[in-house]
Amino acid sequence: MPRFRFTAGLIAGLFATSAIAAPATPATPAAPDVSRRQPQIDKIVAEISAKRIENYVRKLVSFETRHTMSDTSSETTGIGAARRWIKAELERCGAGTPLQVAYDSHISPVSARISRPTEIVNVVATLPGTQDASKERLYVVSGHYDSRNTDVMDATGKSPGANDDASGTAAVMELACVMAKHKFDATLVFMTVAGEEQGLLGAAHWAKQARAGNLNVAGMFTNDIIGSSRADDGRIDDKQVRLFAQSIPATKEMSDAVRQLVATGGENDSLSRQLARHTKEQGERYVKGFKVSVIQRHDRYLRGGDHMPFLEQGYAALRFTEPNEDFSHQHQNLRTENGKVYGDLTEFVDFDYTARVAKVNAATLASLALAPAAPQQVKVRTDQLVNDSTLVWQANAEPDLAGYRIVWRETTASGWQGSKFVGNVTEATVKLSKDNYFFGVQAVDKDGNVSVATYPAPLR
Ligand SMILES: [Zn+2]
Repeated sequence: MPRFRFTAGLIAGLFATSAIAAPATPATPAAPDVSRRQPQIDKIVAEISAKRIENYVRKLVSFETRHTMSDTSSETTGIGAARRWIKAELERCGAGTPLQVAYDSHISPVSARISRPTEIVNVVATLPGTQDASKERLYVVSGHYDSRNTDVMDATGKSPGANDDASGTAAVMELACVMAKHKFDATLVFMTVAGEEQGLLGAAHWAKQARAGNLNVAGMFTNDIIGSSRADDGRIDDKQVRLFAQSIPATKEMSDAVRQLVATGGENDSLSRQLARHTKEQGERYVKGFKVSVIQRHDRYLRGGDHMPFLEQGYAALRFTEPNEDFSHQHQNLRTENGKVYGDLTEFVDFDYTARVAKVNAATLASLALAPAAPQQVKVRTDQLVNDSTLVWQANAEPDLAGYRIVWRETTASGWQGSKFVGNVTEATVKLSKDNYFFGVQAVDKDGNVSVATYPAPLR
């Protein structure tokens, strides 16, 4: 392959470079504009409706309880009625589109939070990708439709679960209904799951099957408690959402891939951190005045969520949650004590805020599913003591690929600071030291859709 050499500015804003091509090699082709807003994504984001999200939340709360072991025979109350309604609603709004709606069901045996064998049913809506080279690449977005009371085994008491997690369920339903009317290269999976409060049972079942079936889940997002902009001290903060992103798993043994990350200082460049970087960039590009606050942890203390079974299966997975939780409105029996209202009630949900979080999801999912796959087999040459950095990678297969972009940042920075489009090649050299910067390689299509970055492993 031809070797492209170029000089580059150290940080963002200093990209103006003179490509110094070796004799007889072509100059680097013009870069697609990767910073422009895609009209299709703007349209999708504009279509996300706070009013429809409100209607979904109110309907979900109307089932009185959605506890995983609650009644399944009633048409008006309990988790059975709730899931039949979710499925029917997705089928209704997906009519005339390629959206495929199905149950994903299994029987969970007795465990710490399951007192009798219980059918756990996920409602899964799949929008198949339209590009042959990309349709096997999946992006999953989830919310959990089960709810709980103070006693996690209470399957009959009223448990509205308006914020936890009708908000996330409603967001996923709205995303499915809006995005089904658009076309994407890769496949989108919109999932409302059960059994979260009883031990992440629905999500774990799906994630395990995905790994067993060798599915290429290139990214997963759970939306859990995304409904309130009000902190427990009354402050309103409707200008940001937290995005929890794991570094490397806290396992006793390290996989070879994880060891390689740690050995080169790459623990902030795990698959989930790369996905979080991309989500922040795309979410903030399309939802103006709204911040995606990446929290460099897998979740909050004492808590977990449906991204965790995906992380355990080795997939990139992230959690969206409101910025300031009010614990008197989570996992609490409905009651009033000393004039204070406890319980997860609809009146504490801010539907405009929930819609903004849904828009961040929509922009990110659309950009991922329109873009090429992240480059594979990315390596940095380390066989010689030189001060510039040569990266190599495997060619992507998408027919609309324009080329590759190298991104970099200082080792203490969280987001990319510099970039260079290098054309449709599989090797390029940057005039920056691999000792002083973290690099990534992204694939770019002709419309300027850019992939998540891949961290280079050392190549000796
Ligand atoms: Zn939850």
